Amino acid sequence: MIETDTHPKLLAVPMLDFSREFAEIREEVLAAIAGVCESQRFILGPEVARFEAAAAEACGVPFAVGCASGTDALWLALTALKIGAGDAVVTTPFSFFATVSSILRVGAWPVLADIDERTFNLSAGAVEKVLGADVVGIMPVHLYGQCADITALTALARERGLKVVEDAAQAFGASWEGVKAGGLGDAAAFSFYPTKNLAAFGDAGMVSTRDEVVAERAKMLRQHGMRRRYYHDEVGWNSRLDTLQAAVLEVKLQRVEAGNRRRRELASLYNERFTAAGLVGKTTAEGVVLPFTDPRAEHVFHQYVIRAPKRDALREYLTAHSIGSEVYYPLVLSLQESLKFLGYKKGDFPVSEKAAEEVLALPIYPELRVEELESVVEAIRRFYA
Ligand SMILES: *Cc1c(COP(=O)(O)O)cnc(C)c1O
Repeated sequence: MIETDTHPKLLAVPMLDFSREFAEIREEVLAAIAGVCESQRFILGPEVARFEAAAAEACGVPFAVGCASGTDALWLALTALKIGAGDAVVTTPFSFFATVSSILRVGAWPVLADIDERTFNLSAGAVEKVLGADVVGIMPVHLYGQCADITALTALARERGLKVVEDAAQAFGASWEGVKAGGLGDAAAFSFYPTKNLAAFGDAGMVSTRDEVVAERAKMLRQHGMRRRYYHDEVGWNSRLDTLQAAVLEVKLQRVEAGNRRRRELASLYNERFTAAGLVGKTTAEGVVLPFTDPRAEHVFHQYVIRAPKRDALREYLTAHSIGSEVYYPLVLSLQESLKFLGYKKGDFPVSEKAAEEVLALPIYPELRVEELESVVEAIRRFYA
């Protein structure tokens, strides 16, 4: 019927498709892996130091220390800064679990503060209200690939002598007022989990810093607190960056800037198509709310996240049409079962709680095709029509 005339078939769009990038880098990355196998230098082989130097340069910092995961990078950064038992660290309830669990892992206490409604990042105003005497640090998360308001957070930190530890797991290559993520605080943690915008073929992470002492401590801590072999100065852990992963990351690092540029282009295209379809509103009462980019931030769109009216029903509709989407994150950290002992209750972080009900991440990766992006927007138009 008329259906078929005005409703061309929607394309299936995967939320992520790693095989597209792999097809492009196959020869190069397999050669890099073969090189490690031939050398048999699996633990802290030369690829690790080479990747660390290149990644530090890409982040505009003098030091980078590879480690086993983003979670470990957070733990290493905090421990290298000597944050531990008796200390409190302020962070956001609207993040991945590791942000808070790493603070607990070092024996410190996570104090949560609400987010900014537009950027989903830690609000400096909210942080200021919870700065008690035991607070020694602030851990902003550069959520979805946009840096938190480092200007305001750094001003607070300087006033009170606090450390700033960036959770930059989603923000490789992002910047704030021209300074790259990873160099905006006292130390930063990156994740190279396979879904991140710089991704290994498994778990991997990195600490970056401008402080030589912090870098040296992180290196010592990732190898059981050893400076000299079998002499343990401190109780560290085994959290080395695997050499095979470093070899993969060396190849992928060369592509991350172009990838981030493409992500920005695709985000603009999404914005344009949503606007052209008449779907956009200032709030979810009016329509789809597009991502907001602070003019001081260079966003890398690790995720392209809208606020959507009837979010869960929309997601079901997209899933039924084989269009990927994801909710980062459906339950704020303050209400997680395992964190009940922190003593928070529903209503404590209204901005975060509302975001958890409204956000929807749509497919975005450098290899996403324009027809696919258009199909995502068309499916959303049909859902609301
Ligand atoms: C992915 C992620 C982490 C944890 O990184 P892993 O490498 O998975 O351990 C921490 N924080 C945020 C915000 C993340 O997105």
